Amino acid sequence: MTIDLIISRLKNRYPPGKFNSRDPFRQLIATVLSQRTRDEVTDRASGKLFSKYGTATALAGADVSDIEELIREVGFYRIKAPRVKEIARIISNDFKGKVPDDVDTLLSLPGVGRKTANCVLVYGFGKDAIAVDTHVHRISNRLGLVSTKTPEETELKLREVLPKRYWRYINELLVRFGQDICRPVGPKCGVCMIGEMCPSRRGE
Ligand code: SF4
Repeated sequence: MTIDLIISRLKNRYPPGKFNSRDPFRQLIATVLSQRTRDEVTDRASGKLFSKYGTATALAGADVSDIEELIREVGFYRIKAPRVKEIARIISNDFKGKVPDDVDTLLSLPGVGRKTANCVLVYGFGKDAIAVDTHVHRISNRLGLVSTKTPEETELKLREVLPKRYWRYINELLVRFGQDICRPVGPKCGVCMIGEMCPSRRGE
């Protein structure tokens, strides 16, 4: 089946390997910091933040000005600093320091949307969930897996068409594929390993 072949080719090129590899709290905070920020910048800033405040309780007690200083490389750091402190306070006070592992409770936290919640489920808890970011949304539409206008619609549609065994992989695979080959502008269709299955393939 086409979807199996697509996933198999992508897995060959981008061997997955980071599920359930991160502490859920750090995954949550890093994903909030990553919004509108490049991966390498997020990694640097979250590394600085966690080296000083590694737990929900520690971050909840931090000064916002100190958090700002540690994360100032990331986009919208002045908005994100009080936000991550508030998330830490809620996790520490209301959830006894443990990040909730269901999407609805995660969505109740400030600044947490579906992509962030699903990233926490996949990478923090190793659960089957579909984290749809701009790459997943764009490429799923180019491949004709979905025909949707928003990432939220794409998530719902992918839940129907993508076998559950692939849910946890799809984010990492399509992010790496989207940075490498199926770029937002100027996709490299001529060297694409799944080009013959793609209705959006462009001639070179
Ligand atoms: S053929 Fe082009 S548009 Fe289709 S998946 Fe490959 S790079 Fe993307």
